[in-house]
Order: sequence, then C-alpha cells, then structure tokens
Amino acid sequence: MSKKKPRKTSPTKRPETEPRRPVAVTPTSPCPCGRDATYRDCCGACHQGRAAAPTAERLMRSRYSAFVVGDAGYLLATWHPSTRPAGLEFVSGQRWTGLEILGTTGGTAFHAEGTVEFRAHYTLQGQAESQYENSRFVREDGAWVYVDALPPA
Ligand SMILES: [Zn+2]
Repeated sequence: MSKKKPRKTSPTKRPETEPRRPVAVTPTSPCPCGRDATYRDCCGACHQGRAAAPTAERLMRSRYSAFVVGDAGYLLATWHPSTRPAGLEFVSGQRWTGLEILGTTGGTAFHAEGTVEFRAHYTLQGQAESQYENSRFVREDGAWVYVDALPPA
C-alpha cells in the first residue's frame, strides 16, 4: 500500500557546509507525530509545558515530534534520570518523515509502566531509512518519562 516517493537527486553534490535548519513546523501545522491535530494542540502543548502527555504513547509521540522540531531540552526533560545522557546532538542532515506506532502495552493513567513499539522514518543523505524501537516508559511523579529501549524479542 505504501507509495514510493520519487527519490530526489541533485545533479551536483551539495556542499557539506549547508546550515542545518529545523523543519518548519508552525503552531497550525499538522502535528509531526501523525495524530489528527495541529502541532499547537498536540505535541506542541507538551513541548511548551502547557500539557503533560497523558499516556506513554503520547509521550513517545511528543518525543518524536521533539526530534522533528529539534527540541533537545524536551527530549532530555522527558528522559529518566537513570538513563538520561548528559547532552543530545542531532544527526546533521537527518530529516524525520513519519512515525508509525506498532504496538503498546500498559502506559495509561492506570499504569506505572508501559512500552511503545514504533518505527520512525527519516531521510539521510537522500536515502529513506527507518529506526525501529520498543521503548520502555515509566511514570515519575505522575509524568511519563522514557527509560530505554528493550532488547529485540
Ligand atoms: Zn503530536
């Protein structure tokens, strides 16, 4: 069912010095996470501290969107202190193009833990790639945080 997009190739190689710009996501853009909502009403509300992700899946979505808009502060703030890296650098030229949620366990208001299995799509140097992960989340002081990736089953 997936329609392959024609691959763009430029006739001349782009200089590597091109500045990296965040993808233009505006408050009224469709949310990058793929939910049927604007960025402002969906993940933007989490990024700006106006709302907390009610479920592990929503936190996962908001973290994906944080990669799209380049919000390292949000990614670190929603990382469990025990596994949180000291800093975060985005891969130069990596452009996130879509998120697929493949499955979830737990992760609701009635749970303290949850997992979200997903595939995130991106392009890098003109190549379409994807990253698969089954992520583990826990609720800390009522807020969902990312812990780590589960080993492949
Ligand atoms: Zn969203």
